[in-house]
Amino acid sequence: MRITRLVCAHCGNVLTGLGLDKLFFCDNCGKGWALGDKGLESLDVQCRAPADSALPLPFWMVRATVHVLKRTVRNEFTATMLKFSSRYEEDVLKNKKKETGGSFEKRTLLFPAFPVNGLPGLGVNLSESINSLPRLIDLAEKLPDVCGGSISHNDASILARCVTVGQEAEKSDWLAEIEIVLSSVKSTLVILPCYQEVEKVSIADTGVLFFRRSVPFWDKIVDYHSSRT
Ligand SMILES: [Zn+2]
Repeated sequence: MRITRLVCAHCGNVLTGLGLDKLFFCDNCGKGWALGDKGLESLDVQCRAPADSALPLPFWMVRATVHVLKRTVRNEFTATMLKFSSRYEEDVLKNKKKETGGSFEKRTLLFPAFPVNGLPGLGVNLSESINSLPRLIDLAEKLPDVCGGSISHNDASILARCVTVGQEAEKSDWLAEIEIVLSSVKSTLVILPCYQEVEKVSIADTGVLFFRRSVPFWDKIVDYHSSRT
């Protein structure tokens, strides 16, 4: 068993969080740390939640070049279903599909760094609101105490791909098949102020909401913050 002392390597402040947390934000100096195989590794971090925010939560912002190698859409899907019954027959449908691909573009994706049911869909909505995030907090200001970051750096890369597929599926055509690859992936931990409503939680000023019950460790996150105020 490996024991890692959770202390900020920059300022010596003790890092706190929940039992399963892998990501830590130093509320003294503003550095970010990820718990990896070799102990704590430095993370890029953006703090956008003020110290007095009741519920500062961790998110991943992933910048990547998205290569769409192949994208197949079906034409006339509904009409085809009626004409040829619902059984999929490749030879009948051959002329009913269109294949594109070979394109690439840079995208910035934003999604929770804590488990949420339906995370890719939430990530699609959040990524659309990426330009309405609150201002960056100056690290010389007082900083918030953050917990709940349990999605590792590696898992964030995999989830970034899921969010990208979700973005493609949201387009108004009928996506049948897609092959994508992400390259030049750069991940940043972003701390955003969130607000509890009756059943839902709203994320910063984005207008994006998720259900409290869709977060497995929601009560632990809330307990952590209420015990520290
Ligand atoms: Zn520190």
